[in-house]
Amino acid sequence: MKKLSYYLGGALLLLFSCKSVQHVASTQNAAEEQEINAIIANMSIEEKVGQTCQITLDVITKTNDKGAAVNPASIDVEKLNEALLKYHVGSVLNVGAHTLTLSEWKGIIQSIQQPFKDGKTKTPIIYGIDAIHGINYTVGGTLFPQEIGLAATWNKELAKTFGEITAYETRASGIPWNFSPVLDLGRQPLWSRTFETLGEDPYLVSEMGAAIIDGYQGGNKIDDKHVAACMKHFVGYSGTNSGRDRTPAWIPEKYMKELYLPSFKKAVEHGALTVMINSGAVNGIPGHINHQLITETLKNEWGFEGFAVSDWEDFLMLHTVHRTAPTLAEAYVQAFNAGVDMSMVPLSPQYKEYCELMVASVKNGAISMDRLDDAVRRIIRVEKRLGLFEQPIPNFENYPNFGSKAFQNASLNAALESITLLKNEGNTLPLSDKQKVLIAGPTSDNLIFLNGAWTHTWQGVDTAYNTKGCLTIRQAFEQKIGKENCLYAKGAELYSEADFEKTRFVDLADYKQKLTQADVVVLCLGELPSTEKPGDIVSLQLAEEQRELAKLAYEQKKKVIIVLLEARPRIIHDIVAPASAIIQGYLPGDYGASALVQLIYGEKNFSGKLPYTYPKFDGIIEFYDHPRSVDRSKSGDFSAYNPEWDFGFGLSYSQFQYESLTLSTDELHGNDSIQVTVRIRNNSPVWGKEVIQLFVSDDFASLIPNGKSLKRFSKTDIPGNDFIVKTFTLSKEDFMFVGPNGNFIVEDGTFTIGVGPLRKTFHYHQK
Ligand code: BGC
Repeated sequence: MKKLSYYLGGALLLLFSCKSVQHVASTQNAAEEQEINAIIANMSIEEKVGQTCQITLDVITKTNDKGAAVNPASIDVEKLNEALLKYHVGSVLNVGAHTLTLSEWKGIIQSIQQPFKDGKTKTPIIYGIDAIHGINYTVGGTLFPQEIGLAATWNKELAKTFGEITAYETRASGIPWNFSPVLDLGRQPLWSRTFETLGEDPYLVSEMGAAIIDGYQGGNKIDDKHVAACMKHFVGYSGTNSGRDRTPAWIPEKYMKELYLPSFKKAVEHGALTVMINSGAVNGIPGHINHQLITETLKNEWGFEGFAVSDWEDFLMLHTVHRTAPTLAEAYVQAFNAGVDMSMVPLSPQYKEYCELMVASVKNGAISMDRLDDAVRRIIRVEKRLGLFEQPIPNFENYPNFGSKAFQNASLNAALESITLLKNEGNTLPLSDKQKVLIAGPTSDNLIFLNGAWTHTWQGVDTAYNTKGCLTIRQAFEQKIGKENCLYAKGAELYSEADFEKTRFVDLADYKQKLTQADVVVLCLGELPSTEKPGDIVSLQLAEEQRELAKLAYEQKKKVIIVLLEARPRIIHDIVAPASAIIQGYLPGDYGASALVQLIYGEKNFSGKLPYTYPKFDGIIEFYDHPRSVDRSKSGDFSAYNPEWDFGFGLSYSQFQYESLTLSTDELHGNDSIQVTVRIRNNSPVWGKEVIQLFVSDDFASLIPNGKSLKRFSKTDIPGNDFIVKTFTLSKEDFMFVGPNGNFIVEDGTFTIGVGPLRKTFHYHQK
């Protein structure tokens, strides 16, 4: 059973009491609210509690005598009836360790929604799934780059298109709710879920995250081609001190407001309908009992109208892991009263106990009827906006574009714009198709390394469901230059032992021998797919055996192109200098190999840029927006910041020259705005796309200012031997920071605008 063994904890200790919640979300749609109230008025306590209970699909599917799912997957009607009719369960999630066909999904969704269609339940089921880089649990779905790769495109249109296609294919599978996007900030490179984030910068994450949500939801009333988004994981989950998943973070209020909250706030402004809560703890408070953040900030202050779902078993873990509750009953009361509206319980028999304990807590007053109604109202509101009351079972014939060529091309485009060229010594790239290439390395010949975790199965290592017709890197090269020009040697393989990733050599003699025969070596390194606790690592260093493959090739004086397929930036410093070219592929998805080959042979141009700072050393992890003190070197100058590659870095076959930067004024007052105009020339005949990045520095401030902060970006086409002019508009909000009083403020002073290598300053006056 997925995850179970990872998340069972110890016993109980502290008692924590939370105020009960009486908040009723404001909404413009009075008629809708009336309908919702009418449904609630007719529901028993048991039915209301059931509405807040989410179970995993395995609880209600047919299994064999050993408890394993049977093929083809189908619903066990007895288990279904017990869950839906006796316990009134309102939500189902995910699927066990396999990927289903469209027709299996059809059967499952029809069975699950039938009791509602027959009038046996008062609400439809809301089904949720982790379709985090495409509909990953349906055979033939379109798999995109993982979020970190999507962020590297710096292209909001592509992010929106990804959202639209994923929503379409998720609905085609009968599922209306996607547990995505992850809006956590990627500021802890050790963290196993770095690849699920949109990188380290709050502005980039906010903009790209909002674009994905626009694609998922497509508007306020969501049609049958769109799904409800789920903002994950509110909030601070990624900032773990230890780097291990689900361990505590310390995030002072200033940095919570400046770094971690903005992407969620922006998502709420874009109408995100649901949120999932942080499994870890921030400043000693488990995410699931943080009343201040969930109820006061998210719901009351920001006006979030949807509902909050817990993460996997996290109500229970207040008792077993975090130990803020001495009993399970108390744990459930704590989370629910903090404002979490639905509990991903999600196993059996735990869900039954959850329902029983919750009913008792309502009856004994530990949970007020107002709070219960508030949660149920929020859940039904989302179901209404998804159209589930009118059409709980979709018209499965209505999705002719599922897995279409057009969708596949969109994924290919995303991969093309994502893959990032980090080094290209002496124009090694593009390659000519006359060169004999050795394709080597542990990640070179299997789709799992292009896709990463959350692909067909939770950890993504099972190859059984690999998409038919999609190419591995080896196959894509063979297709491009012919098998006769391609040598192949794996050299090393990745495996997992005692829960940790390992690398071992494979037929090293063969690798060494083939090295001598090749003109160029394409060495594919990286990580075994993993996520959450199974993805915990003890060092960012890429395994020695993998680096050794590069060193052996250097000894042969070969031109080596290193291709990285990794979930987080692994340290590779000792193999960087001798490499001829280095390409960061991230986890580019099913079409990643095709994209890579098109880029390497110059059929397409590179335009991806790093969405994070790539560290050079394990012991020095820094971010691009660090304050000046981080730059201070031993010798007293300000040159100490020295990552392997900086945030926003990425090369192109074009040669872009930043020619001029002009400001519309030197003196900015109050709420006025300032226009920043930049002129960029392409000094090469090669058409390209440049990501124009605009940074602002507050030169002096009452609290130490960031060295610089990203405030605008734009991905822009620049034809060969041509130039473009781009204007950005900034105003007061772009110069604010959280001041000594804990609120966003702006101060009078000098600010510097930086675009590419160009700088210009202006004065800001509040009056
Ligand atoms: C993960 C979530 C995911 C949920 C459902 C949890 O363990 O943290 O991101 O949505 O499982 O699969």
